[in-house]
Amino acid sequence: MQIQDVFKKIVSHSKEYGFVFQSSEIYDGLGAVYDYGQMGVELKNNIKKYWWDSMTLMYENIVGIDSAIFMHPTVWKASGHVDAFNDPLIDNKESKKRYRADVLIEEHLAKIDDKIEKEVEKAKKRFGESFDEKMYRETNPRIMGYQEERDTIHARFSKALNDSDLEGLRQIIIDCEIACPISGTRNWTEVRQFNLMFSTEMGSTSEGSTKVYLRPENAQGIFVNFLNVQKTGRMRVPFGIVQTGKAFRNEIVARQFIFRMREFEQMEMQFFVPPGEELEWFEYWKAERLKWHHALGFGAENYQFHDHEKMAHYANAATDIEYRMPFGFKEVEGIHSRTDYDLAQHEKFSGKKMQYFDPEKNKSYIPYVVETSIGVDRMFLSVLAASYAEEKLENGETRVVLRLPAQLAPIKLAILPLVRKDGLPEKAREILNSLKFEFACHYDEKDSIGKRYRRQDAIGTPFCITIDHQTLEDNMVTVRNRDTMEQERISIDALRTVIGDQVDMKSLLKKLV
Ligand code: ATP
Repeated sequence: MQIQDVFKKIVSHSKEYGFVFQSSEIYDGLGAVYDYGQMGVELKNNIKKYWWDSMTLMYENIVGIDSAIFMHPTVWKASGHVDAFNDPLIDNKESKKRYRADVLIEEHLAKIDDKIEKEVEKAKKRFGESFDEKMYRETNPRIMGYQEERDTIHARFSKALNDSDLEGLRQIIIDCEIACPISGTRNWTEVRQFNLMFSTEMGSTSEGSTKVYLRPENAQGIFVNFLNVQKTGRMRVPFGIVQTGKAFRNEIVARQFIFRMREFEQMEMQFFVPPGEELEWFEYWKAERLKWHHALGFGAENYQFHDHEKMAHYANAATDIEYRMPFGFKEVEGIHSRTDYDLAQHEKFSGKKMQYFDPEKNKSYIPYVVETSIGVDRMFLSVLAASYAEEKLENGETRVVLRLPAQLAPIKLAILPLVRKDGLPEKAREILNSLKFEFACHYDEKDSIGKRYRRQDAIGTPFCITIDHQTLEDNMVTVRNRDTMEQERISIDALRTVIGDQVDMKSLLKKLV
């Protein structure tokens, strides 16, 4: 299957089976805003639970909060978002389409990388066993040419970003002959800065209203509560505060489904450490977070770190965890060493001390912060992409199956009476009523058993049980495994433990230790 086809299929599968709908679809939708359907919300909640439990249960020095979306407007002055939360934009004069200048250049660099990889792949096939990849990369003239071209563009790109040199960015686009994917022309406007924050008015106009922002990140809600939590929770540095919640960005390049949305959800942790220890903790959290991703079993080769070209205004180290999406390696999570920038800024703007007295060091200081910030929606997309499969069966039919990790699946067990008579539905409901307290079950008696299996495969239900006439005599049911399609008879009494053990979040968390 073509890569782009896979992505299209995931998008239409998401809609067909109630995972993701376009927002306000009956009004033709709202750009880059999506709703989660009956299956999607369960999967999303399970992803959030996996993250939340992994943070708050697995580390004894991490606690959670839930701060409001609206915050005092000075928060965003202090954090730098009012002045510096900008994207460089460029428009194509023919198609009138707007792009992020940095994204256009990054895509161009990725194309050169692709050319290099293709050369290496070709050579690998040609030389077979005796192929020395390192040597080939360093000596093959064509690869060396591509590499040099890439390095030169890359150096200019880094410099332009770091100097906020908008004309420099534009010149790279011109020099690299980057064309608009829609019109195919290179007729570009100037590059301009655009602030990504949404704003609204709070309070009625007669009393005078205040301009407030919809938060573009969760982090500031944690920073302004840093001392509240530290004091009331008697926390000692190093410690972490987590929260999950909505964030809003007026994204310009809003495409690729739920990868880039205007309203999305983040799961963030701010970890407070003594000054000078932040880079060690940065490395620590890089490893911990990668372990969390790997535990899902999607294959270590599908993840990579990508260090930032341009540090945000608050960071002294930053990397992304990228996952191999159907459209290439893309950021799912950011890990940033944010220094003491945010707390120091809040101290300055609020006039309140944001310091911690360290009893071991016997002094007060503003802690440094290492942040891990992961998008729920991007994580959701990566889980779908990793799980979606089309398989040819022995009887010639194809089945679409979501091989979701059982702990994340919206429904854990489908309970299917073989026929709708002879007391089988009653027996099936009896099982449902005893198991529904343990995990998410789904009762289905419509259509042939084959069709019912297909429906459960398509939503990723890891187990189905069928209740047949024999069940009434021996209290045994047939359990069918989604991935292997193997069936075995087991006793009804054993279902709770046999299935429960495999679908329980605990079994995923245990992989982290
Ligand atoms: P990008 O470079 O793709 O715009 P970012 O570096 O601005 O992302 P961060 O500010 O580090 O993103 O946000 C942390 C996480 O929040 C990202 O790793 C991503 O998973 C998620 N995220 C950010 N912007 C969006 C968005 N518009 N839609 C969905 N998720 C997002």
